[in-house]
Amino acid sequence: MQKIEHIGIAVNSLEKSIPLFEQLLGTLCYKTECVTSENVNTAFFKTGESKIELIEGMVEGNVIQQFIEKRGEGIHHIAFSTDDIESEIERLKSLGFEFIHDVPKKGADNKLICFLKPKCTNGILVELCQEIPNEG
Ligand code: ZN
Repeated sequence: MQKIEHIGIAVNSLEKSIPLFEQLLGTLCYKTECVTSENVNTAFFKTGESKIELIEGMVEGNVIQQFIEKRGEGIHHIAFSTDDIESEIERLKSLGFEFIHDVPKKGADNKLICFLKPKCTNGILVELCQEIPNEG
């Protein structure tokens, strides 16, 4: 596992939270992206070597809205980058870690992603991510 790639923060409204985080971090949001596989809208900020990802639910009752209903807005997940997501999944599975889905899928920001089950990581939702190599 390499650096913390980003921290995901669940918010009710990107429209309200983007200007807030631009003020907080002193940097402009450099990308917004709709991730249809997860039904979320995301907004990214660079903070040194890592990023902040704001996440807003797109449809009624999706995972982000469920999370906010239960726990309020706040830190949703921590994402670690890896060069080889497949072998990292195998390594962690062999140690007994469980995955929400263990086939990596396309996430925001040109990444393959997968999530571990929070019950096996002290309640923290952990995301693994690997940059998708540019084709050509
Ligand atoms: Zn993420």
